[in-house]
Amino acid sequence: MAVALVDQEDAWLRLSTLQHFAYCPRQAALLIDGVWADNYLTVQGTAGHEHVDSGKTDYRRGAIVHHRVPLVCHRWRIRGVADAIEQDANGTLMPVEHKRGRGAGDEFPSIVQVVGQALCLEEMLGSTVPEVALYITKERRRDRYRTDDYRTRVIALIEEARVRLRGHIDPIFQARLCTSCSVQNACQPRGAQWR
Ligand code: SF4
Repeated sequence: MAVALVDQEDAWLRLSTLQHFAYCPRQAALLIDGVWADNYLTVQGTAGHEHVDSGKTDYRRGAIVHHRVPLVCHRWRIRGVADAIEQDANGTLMPVEHKRGRGAGDEFPSIVQVVGQALCLEEMLGSTVPEVALYITKERRRDRYRTDDYRTRVIALIEEARVRLRGHIDPIFQARLCTSCSVQNACQPRGAQWR
């Protein structure tokens, strides 16, 4: 079955799709194609979003926290919704993405998503977003990352995803990733190379 993201060259990418693509391109393609299966990780991840999905503004550690903020970047044609954006006393903004865990031990896909949020904010507000953060709910831990350390890689990934998600993407079995993958039943990655 052909798995297509778009039929238009200038199609937009969702930031959540970009996160899945960074985890595994095949996963992003299956999710676009309508395959979704909650495993215990996605169920717990959804539960962990209940507070940040409230759509409110509140105050923490001296910062204003805006929840559920729609974002768009016309330059890179990406869009999504930020879990939370913190605004410090100087007006500096920092997107904070909430995740249940570290995504099969690698937080890079989540960093891609939150740096994508920073790219949107920079364009929307015409200001620099120097840092982003991940809040890992099961560890109650927050890690901060410099946007500039990831900017080039994220932009390259956006361009790669836009091209590759137009066509079919074969599964490639990767034990660490496939074991935690919510769409592995639909994907059937084991032995794919011999099919
Ligand atoms: S099962 Fe493995 S190859 Fe298939 S989508 Fe998930 S991570 Fe990718």
